[in-house]
Amino acid sequence: MNEWEVLREWCPKLYKEGMIFECGLGWYGLLHDLSMKIEKILEKEAENSKLHEGEENEYVEMFAIQVKEKYGTLRFYMSAQTEEMEPLIHSAEVLSSQTCEFCGEPGKMHGTHWLKVRCDKCYEEKK
Ligand SMILES: [Zn+2]
Repeated sequence: MNEWEVLREWCPKLYKEGMIFECGLGWYGLLHDLSMKIEKILEKEAENSKLHEGEENEYVEMFAIQVKEKYGTLRFYMSAQTEEMEPLIHSAEVLSSQTCEFCGEPGKMHGTHWLKVRCDKCYEEKK
């Protein structure tokens, strides 16, 4: 089992079977933190919806539909999200612009057409 599969198992509400993470493992740490926080919110939401069962209040299923790198930074898309999730997702996306996608060390955006966040060491090696 690779790291992403482990994360998927930890967050069964957030990540459906077959979820693919289209980014480097250097972002595993920040995605792990984000996923755990969102999973907790989803658990709370599911509990709340149970309490309101029978009411006209329909529970909207929320889960991650796409997690990928685009133009150098993380993009995290949910099927639906609460206001509570918005700043968490935003912070993770901002953090990804300062985190080497390859090794997780502090990094910065490199490239002009091919944008990638790399630390100096990975940038030199991959050049
Ligand atoms: Zn690096």
